Amino acid sequence: MAGQGKTFKIITYGCQMNQRDSEMMADLLQAAGYEPVADEADADVIVLDTCCVREKAENKVYGKLGQIERLKSANPDLVIAVAGCMIQQPGVAAKIRQQAPYVDLLLGTHNLAELPKLVEEIRVLHQPRVAVREEEGAIVEDLPRRRARGAQAFVTITYGCNNFCTYCIVPYVRGRERSRRPEDILKEIKDLVDQGVIEVTLLGQNVNSYGRDLEEKISFAGLLTRVNAIEGLKRIRYVTSHPRDFTPRLVETISRLDKVCEHVHLPVQAGSNRILELMHRGYTREHYLELVASLRRHIPGISLTTDLIVGFPGETEEDFRETLDLVARVQFDNAFTFMYSPRKGTVAATLPGQLPLEVKKERLKRLMELQNQISLAKNEALVGQEVEVLVEGPSKTDPSRLSGRTRTNKLVIFPGDQNLTGKLVNVRLTRAQTWLLKGEISCD
Ligand code: SF4
Repeated sequence: MAGQGKTFKIITYGCQMNQRDSEMMADLLQAAGYEPVADEADADVIVLDTCCVREKAENKVYGKLGQIERLKSANPDLVIAVAGCMIQQPGVAAKIRQQAPYVDLLLGTHNLAELPKLVEEIRVLHQPRVAVREEEGAIVEDLPRRRARGAQAFVTITYGCNNFCTYCIVPYVRGRERSRRPEDILKEIKDLVDQGVIEVTLLGQNVNSYGRDLEEKISFAGLLTRVNAIEGLKRIRYVTSHPRDFTPRLVETISRLDKVCEHVHLPVQAGSNRILELMHRGYTREHYLELVASLRRHIPGISLTTDLIVGFPGETEEDFRETLDLVARVQFDNAFTFMYSPRKGTVAATLPGQLPLEVKKERLKRLMELQNQISLAKNEALVGQEVEVLVEGPSKTDPSRLSGRTRTNKLVIFPGDQNLTGKLVNVRLTRAQTWLLKGEISCD
């Protein structure tokens, strides 16, 4: 095989979609004979799987390339690839070629499956390659898979997005929305379950619009019902849900499917109708609050998390206070809060009323303070309860303890044997912090 005796390291930036893409590229390289290594200094091929949603993520990639240059100087046969969303943006490939001429391969989001073939060409011909297709092609279903990496797995159900929120670069770099056929998704999940997976996370930029482009009449609710019937599977998660497309039928469906976890990540982005309209989000704060009430009515104990952007162009203090008000009303379990950062090529980057950094920083601070108080109070209310936790392995902050997640996606740290990794255990919650809970395995 082409990669026999060679090694690779993939460094992933950004969201779960990227994590899944990186898994796919790793599977392809392994099928070609390459072996993964933990340290990039030991790799014959280094792939940076990039994100361009925020400027910070892009800057990290340029910083990393600076470090990797030293490895290339020491080992001229090292193949360096930069892949994913950044490369799909106009002008970025040329910029990397200029700033980092030692990069061998630039690979767009629609070309990822070509990675092993192109790496091989580079190794033989000693010529750099650029592969960036503008148009998304048909979904490739017959790629080699070595997927089960423990008890949890990501499964992509849709690619791309049709929504064009005015601040977002994703539809430009990942293309229009394409749904995978249900039979391909179900087969993949059954294979994963046969390999020991008990929890799947269904991935899409907007899972709620799953199936709209398929000939077969199937909705996300219909897909969940079929996934729920897979024997041996214990938990189903899904990201990301768009509030506009979260139908009453979907609320009712997830409330009665036993394997669907009681957690919804429901990005609201802003609490002001004026800003929501400028963002082109397609719902109002009233719609959002009604949806939250409906979810809580149908699914007692459900946890809700969200994404929030502060400092969108034209956001006034009054608009921002509406965001604070919505956060206080909803009482999210957790929120990912961001300062608006203009992305070239998006509508919002051209809007008047771009706010100074200081204003954005100050608003972010106030928002985080409020959310942190709420997150802590929500966690404190759980102390004393016994919850089911899927053990993920040693805790990153305290490797002598285990960490895992409840069905409501709360992080729990507790003492226990490493052999429990991948198992479901009952844990009594004993202490709450803002971001996590501590507990002890229940002996009952
Ligand atoms: S729904 Fe909006 S924010 Fe989400 S990926 Fe699509 S365009 Fe971006």
